[in-house]
Amino acid sequence: MPEQAEQRPLSELPLHDLIACHECDLLMRRPEIGEEQKACCPRCGYELVVHRSQMERRALALVLTALLLFVPANFLPIMKLNLLGQTTHDTVWTGVVGLYNTGMEGVALLVFLCSMVIPLIKLLCQLAVLICINTRRALGLGVTFYRLYHHLKEWGMLEVYLMGILVSIVKLIDLADLHLGIGLVCFIGLLLAQVWLEVTMSPHQVWDALDAEGETHARH
Ligand SMILES: [Zn+2]
Repeated sequence: MPEQAEQRPLSELPLHDLIACHECDLLMRRPEIGEEQKACCPRCGYELVVHRSQMERRALALVLTALLLFVPANFLPIMKLNLLGQTTHDTVWTGVVGLYNTGMEGVALLVFLCSMVIPLIKLLCQLAVLICINTRRALGLGVTFYRLYHHLKEWGMLEVYLMGILVSIVKLIDLADLHLGIGLVCFIGLLLAQVWLEVTMSPHQVWDALDAEGETHARH
């Protein structure tokens, strides 16, 4: 972290010049960093801020990719199963319907929410935030969507679902004639696009961009 010439005590600095570590709560001066640079906490090493170049454009491309993959990932067959002469094409959606029909309504609802509804709402929130940032309009609404995204973050569980699919593939491969479908490719693509999107949308950059309006008000 670059040493700052200014040696005023932290308590006299304006809030905007301060930053606290998420992990160990160490309060310090906000580091100045350039493009594609990051600053870590000097005490615990946690990543404090990271600056991604062209964040808005890259994130917008990724969120659109993820949204395009969303429908095929959920509605195209993940696997084709041939067991004792019976062939089934399994998709995420038929999995939910199957659980519901076998009397596991609660589990069906949970899978439906965590693997379809919440990931979709998360992506739509990210899209709305990026549109607000790119057009510099309705930044207040953007803040609301970004807060909603942070609340939902823990509830989208595509990774868990993918693990479930992989375990069932390993277990079924000896028992039945199994063919992997295009849905699985789209599902893995969706998961990768989402992870990449989360890495690209650096939270500090998003909050700063959403706060641009408030900052100009504060300075005038
Ligand atoms: Zn720390």
